[in-house]
Amino acid sequence: MTSTTMRRTPIDSFPTSTSSTQAETEKILLDHLPKDNKAAPTLQTQAHMQFLIRNLVQGFPARYTSQDASQPWLLYWTLEAFSVLQVGLDPGNRQKAVDTIMAWQHPDGGFGGGPHQAAHLLPTYAAVCALAIVGKPGEGGGWDQIDRKKMYNFFMSLKQPDGSFFVAHHSEVDVRGIYCLLVTATLLDIITPELVEGTSAFVASLQTYEGGFSSASQPYYAPSTSPNGPSALLESPRPPLGEAHGGYTFCALASWVMLLPYLPSPAPKINKMSLLRWLVQMQGSPVELGGFKGRTNKLVDGCYSWWVGGAFALLESIGINPSAIPAPSADKQEGKDDDWSDIDDSLLNRKALQEYILFAGQHPAGGLRDKPPKNADSYHTLSCLAGLSSAQHKVFPSPTRRKALLDSWKSTGNSTNEELRKAYVRRRALLHRGNGHRDHRRRPVEPSERNAPSVQPNNYAHGGNDDVLLWASRASANRQMNS
Ligand SMILES: [Zn+2]
Repeated sequence: MTSTTMRRTPIDSFPTSTSSTQAETEKILLDHLPKDNKAAPTLQTQAHMQFLIRNLVQGFPARYTSQDASQPWLLYWTLEAFSVLQVGLDPGNRQKAVDTIMAWQHPDGGFGGGPHQAAHLLPTYAAVCALAIVGKPGEGGGWDQIDRKKMYNFFMSLKQPDGSFFVAHHSEVDVRGIYCLLVTATLLDIITPELVEGTSAFVASLQTYEGGFSSASQPYYAPSTSPNGPSALLESPRPPLGEAHGGYTFCALASWVMLLPYLPSPAPKINKMSLLRWLVQMQGSPVELGGFKGRTNKLVDGCYSWWVGGAFALLESIGINPSAIPAPSADKQEGKDDDWSDIDDSLLNRKALQEYILFAGQHPAGGLRDKPPKNADSYHTLSCLAGLSSAQHKVFPSPTRRKALLDSWKSTGNSTNEELRKAYVRRRALLHRGNGHRDHRRRPVEPSERNAPSVQPNNYAHGGNDDVLLWASRASANRQMNS
């Protein structure tokens, strides 16, 4: 199909700013299709490398000043982009990166967005993931200098009675924070049943009528039976807050995948088929070059190549294989076989996604972007590269790779994880001895409790998957998933 035969999105006679920007975007995208239909798109690796090196060595341009609280993200996007391009740093720059990251560790646990900034789940994720790329076990390597005990206490101090987490003290609940917490806890091997109790039910409550996920859901409480007594958190209604969104959906689905070993009984459920349907709907039409959008009726954007495109790999990892679901068959009676001649056998059009990234996502001066004519930036550079990689590869579990990763990341002389487990077992034993019955009513946590550094015994119902023996390290799983 050529740019002249592609069907533009129809509009009625009442143009709005949405329909006008859509039409404008389609025109710009079509202009980026090569005139020669046979020209093979190529990834301008050298130009992107130069862009990333410039940012790392010379520092970011002045317009990044507003990102002062996102320093771990800027470094993580850069390092992970190198990683996707299969480029490693020299030892000197690695050590420089490790020392920079460690300066962001908060004395009370977690990482802040810069030196002496408050700890927050999002920069904590970025810092720990960056260390997973450039750090190493042993002295000065960063990995063993992460204070796991304080990290765990920081996580528990953010925990809410409904299984969700604040992203930082005195802040809000957001599924992006939960994803960041779970990845960090997985990489550091500090997930306990206590930490994730109730979290899967919270994540499930975020799925909207569209099939994708929103950022949070609204809790409701039953009136208290006594004047100062606790309010009981109701299991329903639990409406999702806001519309389905690509970023939230990726975070919710990835969280769900990480929580599978800890699902309680009876297990909360997500509707995987309506999720798949929504993900498929987010892929743009040929006139949008097959890029992804993050919400219904919005413009395509390179970063959703990863948030939405990458979600297909997550679905595959839990047995929903879009390639195995046949596309609608051609209407043979009408003789319209040609209508389907430009689709492959998958619900995710991998070829089209690659074309969007390669034709429209690459900035001629290096780096990748949302869409032309926008500037390249490090966030979109990584998201586009990761989306391209997920469109070109299949994820499959590899016991050999898993073992190799686990062996190379064994901590040296760090017994904190073991201590955490023993402390949890002790707390559980105390809980069972001390309470003939447990109060299953949930109540809102008082602000003073939210910030409490100690790990509180909780009053959640325990599920069937809380055997301490199940706490085998899953440190490699996420890295394999993401790379
Ligand atoms: Zn974007």
